[in-house]
Amino acid sequence: MLTNRMYRILSTFLLAITFYVADAQTITDITPSPAEITFKEGEYHFQDQPKVRFITLPEGRMPAESYRIKVDRKGISVSYSDPAGAFYAQITLDQLLPDTMGSSSLPYCEIYDYPRFPYRGLHFDVSRHFRSLDFLKKQIDAMAMFKMNRMHIHLTDAAGWRMQIDSYPRLTQFAAWRQQHTWKDWWAGERLYAEEGAPESHGGYYTKEELRELVEYARQRHIEIIPEIEMPSHSEEVLAAYPELGCSGQAYKDSDFCVGNEEVFRFLETVLEEVMDVFPSEFIHIGGDEAGKQHWKTCPKCQKRMQDEGMTSVDELQSYMICRIERFVNSKGRRIIGWDEILQGGLAPDATVMSWRGTEGGIKAMEMGHDVVMSPGRYCYLDHAQDAPFKEPESIGGYLPLDSVYVYEPAEPSMPADRLHHLKGVQANLWSEYVVTDEHAEYMYWPRAIAIAETAWSQPQRKNLDDFRRRALIALDALRQKGYHTFDLANEYGERKLAQTGLEHKAKGCKVIYNKPIQEWYPAAGETTFTDGVIGGWTYSDKRWQGFLSDIDVTIDLEEIQQISYVGGTFMQLIGPGVFMPQKVDILVSEDGEEFTSVATVWNDVSTSAPELLFRSFDTICDVRARYVRYHAYRSTMRGFLFLDEVVVN
Ligand SMILES: [Zn+2]
Repeated sequence: MLTNRMYRILSTFLLAITFYVADAQTITDITPSPAEITFKEGEYHFQDQPKVRFITLPEGRMPAESYRIKVDRKGISVSYSDPAGAFYAQITLDQLLPDTMGSSSLPYCEIYDYPRFPYRGLHFDVSRHFRSLDFLKKQIDAMAMFKMNRMHIHLTDAAGWRMQIDSYPRLTQFAAWRQQHTWKDWWAGERLYAEEGAPESHGGYYTKEELRELVEYARQRHIEIIPEIEMPSHSEEVLAAYPELGCSGQAYKDSDFCVGNEEVFRFLETVLEEVMDVFPSEFIHIGGDEAGKQHWKTCPKCQKRMQDEGMTSVDELQSYMICRIERFVNSKGRRIIGWDEILQGGLAPDATVMSWRGTEGGIKAMEMGHDVVMSPGRYCYLDHAQDAPFKEPESIGGYLPLDSVYVYEPAEPSMPADRLHHLKGVQANLWSEYVVTDEHAEYMYWPRAIAIAETAWSQPQRKNLDDFRRRALIALDALRQKGYHTFDLANEYGERKLAQTGLEHKAKGCKVIYNKPIQEWYPAAGETTFTDGVIGGWTYSDKRWQGFLSDIDVTIDLEEIQQISYVGGTFMQLIGPGVFMPQKVDILVSEDGEEFTSVATVWNDVSTSAPELLFRSFDTICDVRARYVRYHAYRSTMRGFLFLDEVVVN
C-alpha cells in the first residue's frame, strides 16, 4: 500500500514524465510519418487514459487503410471506414499515448493518414537457416508497429525445404535437414541432406498447423503472408529428395527442374495446391530467379518440349513453365509474383514482378502493363553490412547503412507517368546465408526495415532524412524495450572518414594517362577517378573505386615541375568476391614524361587469406622534383580484382 506521502511523490514524478513525453513532440515522432498533420490552438488534458471515440464510417467513405485522428477539447476521435484503417489508427495512438498513468496532454490537432503504396513488404529467408515460429511472430509484431503489411517467406531453396507437404513427405523427412549447423559450413562441404532425426542433423520445417497459426497471427495484424516456392531453379533440395524431377534423374546433379517432364508439373501443382490450402494470400511467389538452364540444352525431354512448342531458346522454356504454373494458380483464384528473371523468354500474362537486380526489370514490366514491387539490391538488400564492416558481424559484404536504405525513391523519373499505378510498393529482403541466429536476423532488420516501411507508407514530400534518423532512435528504443535485439544506431560509426570529407592534394584535378585501359565493370568516375579527391567507402560497388582485372598503370601529369614529398594510393582486399591487394606497386617520376626514374617499389605484406575487409596504403615518402608521376600496381598472383580510389601526390 502506498502512503499518502509516497503517493504524492510518485504522482508528481509521473506528472513530470508524462508532461514531458506527451507534448507536441510526440505528434511529430510518429513513424512512419503520417500524410497530414495540422496543429490547432490549445491542449487536451486528461487523467490516466484519454477519452477516445471510434467512429466507423460506411465502407468506401475513406480511402483503403486510411484513418483520421482529431484531438480537441472533447478528447480524441478516430474515424475510418475499413478494419485496416481502424488498426493503423490504433497503432498511431499506441505511439502517441503514454503507457504510464497520471496527467497528460496532447495538443489540439488533426492527423489524416493513408499509405502511399498498398504493398509494404519484408522478406524472410528461412531456408538458409531455419527460424522459429516465435521469431516470425515477433517480427510480425514489429512490422505491424510500422504499418507494414506483407511478409514474404522464402520457404524453399537448396539449403532446406521448410513446409510440410503431405503428398511428398521426403521434402521434410530429408530435404529439410543437413549435418552442418551453418549454411557456410554446409556450402563449403559436399552440400548433402540428412534424414530427419539422424544424429547431429540441423534444420527443420513448419507443420501446416503451425503455418496456419502464423497466417492467423499475421491476419489479426493486417499482414498477409506470401509463401515462396522456388522454380525452376534453386531446387537442389527437391531434386535430391525426388531425383526423377531433374534432367539427369540423379540426386545431387541438378538445380533446375526438368521442364520437359510432365511429372514435374504434377509435382509443382500438387505442392502449390497444398500451399494455397494453407496460405490464403492473393499472391503466391514462384521464385524464378537465377536459373542456370544448362541441362535443358542437352536433356532429351526438355529438347522435345522445345520442339513440340516451337521454341528456339531455353529462356522460352522457362517462360513456358511460369506461364503454365500461372494458369494453374489463376485457376484457383490467386496470382503469381516472381523475381524479375521471369521476364526472360516472355512474361506470363498476369504476373507481378519483384525487381531485385536493379530497377530496369521492374520498369520494363510496368511498361508492359504489369504490376511491380520494387526491391532493388542496392537499397533493399539488408544482407549487406549496415555499418563499418570491421565492427559488424560477418555478412555477404557490401555496405548498406540506414541512410542509404532511406533515400531510395521507388518512383523513378524514367518511369512512364501513365504506368505509375502499376508500382504497387516496396520490399526489403534479408537473405540469410551468413545470418545464423534469430538475434542476428533481428539486428539486420531493425532499424533498416523501418526505413523501408516509411518509404512504402509515407508520402514522398513527408520524408526527411535528418528527421527520420531522430525518429528512428525513438522507434529503436521502443523496440528494445519490447526485447528486440536491434542495431545500435546511436553509436553508428558510419562511412570511412575520408570518404565523407574528400581529400585535397597536389594531383587533384590533374590529367591521368592510362597506360592500361579502364575496364568496363567498375569504371567509377572514369578518367578522373584517381585525381578527383573523392575517396572510396566501405564497398567497392560505391562507384568511387575503379576496378581492374589487370595491372593498374597510370601516369599523372602535374602540369609543371614541382617538389614532391609523398605518393600513395589505397587498395582494398575482400577475398570472398576475389578482391586482392596488388603484388607490388612501382612509383616512378619524370620531368619530361619520357625518362622515368624509380622512386620506390612497395611490396604487399597483407595475407591473401585474411577473411576480413582490409585497406592498405601503398605509398612512399620522397624528396624529388618532377612533373609526371607513374603509379604501377601489379595484379595479385591470386588474380582477381584490384580496386584503387585515388592516387595522392603531395
Ligand atoms: Zn530436362
